[in-house]
Amino acid sequence: MPADGELARLHFPVERSRGRRYPELAHPYRNEFRRDRDRVVHARAFRRLENKTQVFTPGLSDHFRNRLTHTIEVSQIARTVASILGLNEDLTEALSLAHDIGHPPFGHSGEAELDSMMRRFGERFDHNLHALRIIESFENPYPRFAGLNLTFEVREGIVKHSRDFAPGEIPELDEYVPGLRPPLEAQLIDLCDEIAYNTADLDDGYSAGMVDIAEARAAVDRFGELYETTEFQFPGLSERVRLKEVVRGLIDGLVSGLMEGTVKACAGLTDVDAVRLHPERVARFTPEAAKTSAQLKRFLRESVYESPALVRARSDSVSKIAALFELLLEHPDQMPAAYREESAGQPLHRQVCDYIAGMTDGFFLRTAAQLGVS
Ligand code: MG
Repeated sequence: MPADGELARLHFPVERSRGRRYPELAHPYRNEFRRDRDRVVHARAFRRLENKTQVFTPGLSDHFRNRLTHTIEVSQIARTVASILGLNEDLTEALSLAHDIGHPPFGHSGEAELDSMMRRFGERFDHNLHALRIIESFENPYPRFAGLNLTFEVREGIVKHSRDFAPGEIPELDEYVPGLRPPLEAQLIDLCDEIAYNTADLDDGYSAGMVDIAEARAAVDRFGELYETTEFQFPGLSERVRLKEVVRGLIDGLVSGLMEGTVKACAGLTDVDAVRLHPERVARFTPEAAKTSAQLKRFLRESVYESPALVRARSDSVSKIAALFELLLEHPDQMPAAYREESAGQPLHRQVCDYIAGMTDGFFLRTAAQLGVS
C-alpha cells in the first residue's frame, strides 16, 4: 500500500491554475477548483444525468445505476485515491462530477448513433467534446459571460478524459496544450470511471438476472478467489450477499491496484511539470489489477452488455434517435424557438445533434412520441 501522501510532490496546486477565460474576483473562502465543482453541481446538464441511461434503461428497476449515481460513485472513488496519494482532491472532485455531462441519451449506443449521423456531414459527435460545448456555451447562468467559465485545468481534464491528442490533431482544441499529459488528478478519472462501472455493472447485472455466478468465477480469476473466501468465511451465506462481498473486494483490489500502479509509474517524476512532459500517462493499474479489470470487462460484455434484453433495448432507442434526427432535419421548426435562436450560427445538422444530445432519455421518448417517431 502507498504511504499517506506518497505522491504529494505531484499535487497540482490551485495557485498554479491558468485561470478562467473571463477573469473573476476571488471568492472569500472557496478556492477556484471548489468553485468549479459547485458550478458543475448547479448545472442543468448535471441534473439531467439523473434521467440518462448508464447501462440499464429505466423501467427495468428503480435501484439500478443511472448516470448521476454512477457519477457520484466515480467521484467517491477518485477522491479516495486523490486524498490517499496526496493529490488535489478539489480538482479531482470537479473533474469526476463533470466527466459524464456530455453524454447523450441512451449511453454509448446513443453516442455512436449521433456520431454516425454526423459523419454524413463530415463531422463527428464525441461526448467529451460535447461536454466542453455544454460548459462553454450551452449553460448560461451568468450575466457577464457565456458558459460556466471553468478553470483551464477542469476544461483540459474534460477534453482529455479518455485520451490525449497531438498538436494539430484536433484543431478546435489547440488551446488545451496538445502533446502534453494532463495533471495526474485528471489522468486518474478515466481509471476510476472504469473501476466504478465494471463493479457496478456486475452488481446491477446480477440483480437483473444476467450474471451467472459459476460463469463469473470461471471468467474473472479475482472474482473466483473472493467468492471462495466468502464461502470459507461465511458458510451458508446467501448468494446475493456473497456477491456483495465480492463486489466490495473487487473495488478494493482495483483501487489499491490503481494507487500502487500509479505510485510505481511516477517513480522518476519530481513535479507537476514532469507529469505534463512525460511521454505517457502515469495513472495506471498494477498488472494484476489490469488483468482483473480486463477480465471483468470481457465477462460483462458477454453476459450483460450483449444480453438479448439490452441489445433489444439499445437497437430500439438507436433507431428512434436516427428517425428523430431525420425528422428534425426536415422540420427544424419542431425544435423550440428559443433553442433555434440560440444556436442560429450553427449548421442545421449541428443544431439537431446538440438538441438531441442534450435530452434525457425521458424527454427524448416524450419528444419522439409527440412527433410520431416510433
Ligand atoms: Mg463514466
